[in-house]
Formats: sequence, C-alpha cells, structure tokens
Amino acid sequence: MSVSPPGTQRPIGFFGGTFDPPHTGHFRLAIECLEGLSLAEVRMSPLNEPNHRKRPLSDPLTRLAMVDAGASGRVVADPGEIERAGVTYSVESAELLKNQRPDRAVCLLMGQDTYATLGHWHRYQDLLELVHIVVVTRHLAEPMIEAAAEFSDRYCEDRGALSDPSGGKIYFHEIPSLYISSTMIRRRLAQGLDVSHLLPPPVLEIVQAKGLYR
Ligand code: ATP
Repeated sequence: MSVSPPGTQRPIGFFGGTFDPPHTGHFRLAIECLEGLSLAEVRMSPLNEPNHRKRPLSDPLTRLAMVDAGASGRVVADPGEIERAGVTYSVESAELLKNQRPDRAVCLLMGQDTYATLGHWHRYQDLLELVHIVVVTRHLAEPMIEAAAEFSDRYCEDRGALSDPSGGKIYFHEIPSLYISSTMIRRRLAQGLDVSHLLPPPVLEIVQAKGLYR
C-alpha cells in the first residue's frame, strides 16, 4: 500500500451550521470552497443543539435530511454532530476527524459573521491547533474581521498551506455573495411568500411536504 507524504493529500472541508433550513448560500459556499481550494470533499454538519442561540425550529434529523437532500457530488451531509447528544462543539468534531484521518488537513469553513465570534468558542485555542479556518466573505463586514484581530498572526495568503495537516492557519476566501439567510426564508414562509430559488428544489420539497416554518 502506498502512503502519501503528509501535506500532499487534499484537505477535507468541514462546514457546521444550524441549517434551519439549509439554503442556496450554504450550498454555494460549500461548492465554491470545494472547487476554489481543491478540497477532497466538504462535510456539511448540522449542529445538534447550538449553545449560542435559540433552539432551531426544525429538529436535528429534519435539518440533516434537508442538508442531505440539497448536497450533491463531493458535498456531503455529515451526521456526526447530531449523533452526539446535547450541545456539541466544533473542537470535538475536529478531534474525531483528525483521529480518523491524522494525515489529512481539515479546513473549517465559515462566514465572516461566524468567524467574528471565534474568540468565544469552546476550546478555540485547541481547535486552532487541529484545523485551518477558511473564512468566506458573505457581505462586506470589515468591522467583524477586526473583532477577531487577535488571530491575525495566523492569517495566510497561500492556499497551498491549507494542505498542511498540522492546521493553525486562517485563510480568507472570496466568493460571490448571495444575500440569503435562513432567517429570511423562515420569515418568508411564515408570511406565505415564495421561497423558490432561495433553496435547492429537493430542500424546498421537504419544507413543503412537512409544512415547515409556517
Ligand atoms: P440564520 O439566519 O438562522 O442565523 P444563517 O443563514 O446565517 O442562519 P447558519 O446555519 O447560521 O445560517 O450559518 C452557517 C454558516 O453559513 C455560517 O458560517 C454563516 O456565516 C454561513 N452563511 C450563512 N448564509 C450564508 C450566505 N448567504 N452566503 C455564505 N455563507 C453563509
């Protein structure tokens, strides 16, 4: 069996979110990172019970089913977070992934709004020793980047560095901005407004079949 030297295998992308519901902005983020950063795959993992915000309206299995329905190709649904009971933390998912594939780099994908909160995450220093962080621009939010200035010595402009399995870098990846949020979709559904084109048709089918967010 041939074993590739460390750092030569494509990184795994991990994208956690509430996904209540998952929308076109989420799937575009996953695809743009997969293609633009030559990732091996992007694992989209719905949080079981977020500790930082209100409980999601849809239950974890329904959110996982919606992610699975919208995912295609090398963007895949990852049930890991919802299989662990209670509040789960990204650092635990990172530890699991690194235990399974120690030779692989893991890139944690997130929008700027999420990145701005990184300094408050559970064991964020440990997390930064395990994974690289890829921050995608969602809409211009310079003040949010300043909010996380404590990490600026980790910023890197060379995306090749993201293949290093030891982690620890922060890379900013620009993608075309889609002004869509789950909040917008929930509000529109509650008002009986049209949400087609804001989420993939298979996700819309689940939303309609289950009468979610009315
Ligand atoms: P909500 O409106 O309920 O807060 P959301 O649309 O922001 O939800 P989340 O599940 O909270 O979605 O977000 C998961 C991740 O997706 C976050 O890192 C967030 O920055 C990112 N994200 C959300 N919407 C977009 C978008 N339109 N384009 C790119 N990234 C997005």
